[in-house]
Amino acid sequence: MSAAMIEVRSLRKTYGAGSGTPVRACDQVDLDVARGEFVALTGPSGSGKSTLLYLLGALDRPDSGTIDVDGERVTSMNRAGLAAYRRGVGFVFQRFHLLPALTALDNVIAPVLPHRVNFDRRARARELLASVGLAGREDALPSKLSGGQQQRVALARALIGSPRLILADEPTGNLDSRSGADVLDLLTGVRERHGATVVLATHDAQVVERCDRVVRVRDGRVA
Ligand code: ADP
Ligand code: MG
Repeated sequence: MSAAMIEVRSLRKTYGAGSGTPVRACDQVDLDVARGEFVALTGPSGSGKSTLLYLLGALDRPDSGTIDVDGERVTSMNRAGLAAYRRGVGFVFQRFHLLPALTALDNVIAPVLPHRVNFDRRARARELLASVGLAGREDALPSKLSGGQQQRVALARALIGSPRLILADEPTGNLDSRSGADVLDLLTGVRERHGATVVLATHDAQVVERCDRVVRVRDGRVA
């Protein structure tokens, strides 16, 4: 058995084929990530970082190539398999993507609302909000929270399903350095407290400094 949790082989994704010049957003990418590793994808804007994260999270499908996670071939899964796979993945986005009409607590619960779970959703969401420093703000709407607080709600939301993998797309990109540092502390703590593997895209030097490994992406290729 291989030591890697994630094995990406010859992964390709081209946008705009058939309409103008196609863009090879992901071009023959090979990548291994170990369990519990904290990996940063860096590279210029447009280099393909987000595309790779979306493919890893099965939010999009590649044109060719394979992604194996824990020995299972994600790129060959049917709809039901993909839905189950995605439940084990937590996403954090640069612009938080909280639902504006829902309270912080209800945002955290949202991903597991449609699923049968063996825990008390509200109790778990309260614990997670407390763990990201937001005890007492459960009933706040996103518009009443700062950017850093919103991103901490988004992180709690990403953790509610006890994911084995966290994918974060420039999670500190819209935050001041202090709030960014708080979110980064929480992300690095995720591995210890939740045993999750973290793959993130970032331009942030303080994030790069704290990760286990930097993977440079350029023109859809991994160096
Ligand atoms: P990064 O996250 O590193 O900025 P992206 O993965 O977003 O890079 O984009 C890689 C390339 O693919 C860019 O040239 C971008 O314009 C293109 N691209 C990304 N998403 C789409 C899309 N949905 N349709 C067409 N082109 C896209
Ligand atoms: Mg991007």
